[in-house]
Amino acid sequence: KKRIAVLTSGGDSQGMCAVVRAVVRAGIYLNCEVFGCYEGYSGLVQGGKLLKKLEWGDVRGWLSLGGTLIGTARCMEFREREGRLSAAKNMILRGIDALVVCGGDGSLTGADLFRSEWPDLVKELVTNGTFTDKQVEPYRNLTIVGLVGSIDNDMAMTDHTIGAFSSLERICEMVDFIDSTAASHSRAFVVEVMGRNCGWLALMAGICCGADYIFIPERPAKAESWKQSLKEICLRHRAKGRRKTTVIVAEGAIDDNLQKITSENVEECLVEMGLDTRITQLGHVQRGGTAVAFDRFLATVQGVEAVKAVLENTPSTPSPMIGILNNRVVRRPLMEAVKLTKSVATAISEKRFDDAMGLRDSTFKE
Ligand code: ADP
Repeated sequence: KKRIAVLTSGGDSQGMCAVVRAVVRAGIYLNCEVFGCYEGYSGLVQGGKLLKKLEWGDVRGWLSLGGTLIGTARCMEFREREGRLSAAKNMILRGIDALVVCGGDGSLTGADLFRSEWPDLVKELVTNGTFTDKQVEPYRNLTIVGLVGSIDNDMAMTDHTIGAFSSLERICEMVDFIDSTAASHSRAFVVEVMGRNCGWLALMAGICCGADYIFIPERPAKAESWKQSLKEICLRHRAKGRRKTTVIVAEGAIDDNLQKITSENVEECLVEMGLDTRITQLGHVQRGGTAVAFDRFLATVQGVEAVKAVLENTPSTPSPMIGILNNRVVRRPLMEAVKLTKSVATAISEKRFDDAMGLRDSTFKE
């Protein structure tokens, strides 16, 4: 029986539990054995109790849960060859030669590196006497399949990452809460949302909550004139009878000189307009709560696809990342997706903002 390990790594997101459930159950259905690897890559590096076979019933009730019940961690040891050697040893000890990783671009890069190093690691484990040639014979190649779990929706080659819509839902709920008090007092609220250097959450939250103004990294505000523009637009909305002002600031918001735009910068400007202004930092509530229906769906269909991809992978095919494009579940070369993702950040840092917009997913296209 093929043995597959599944792990969640990097920042947590809603839907990661549903991924584990789908991989475990699709694996069992397709005649595999599935091991839960606890605490991200630490589970591979340390082995023992952190690498545990999961049965059908072990993941019962996991479909809707937020966070990840097999834990996630930033594992420093896995960044070192020594740590990955230990990971290979623990996997071979359990007869595991396939890994489904749900995480962000860092986690997926680590996975791909592990796969490319695998034959060398196995050789070393024979040279140093850990295993005999015969013992490692069935495990000459490692199969890696990536799933993107991230609230930021910051991965290229997929329209949506697992967790992004749940996080968006949390943000919208919170802004709705704020709206009632804002309108009561005719106040202005500056709401800071997560997303690292991706503006998807902020842009979508702005649209879904009817914000007055949005700051995102991909379309930087003009350093010279954003304050004037913000004032004019907010005043125009007030003149139409709006009793509240809502400004959404992405975590990575910048101006076109690449200077960070903070909630305090925006607050200052709104105060100058004479508005009673408050800043709300949503913080970790954005990662919390149950997964919305779309993330449960995405995690389930992609988890099943990941197991199929494991079974169909050959040593010569590049590691696939499971994505969703135009409502179709697809496989794309993992490292190409990571490379493209990184090129967005590079484009922004080089002030090629139009390129950054184009490289981002279709949400940002004009
Ligand atoms: P994310 O997956 O959300 O981008 P990180 O970049 O923190 O999060 O990566 C999560 C974990 O993945 C790291 O703590 C480390 O264990 C592993 N990892 C990330 N990058 C690499 C790398 N280049 N080589 C090996 N392991 C890596």
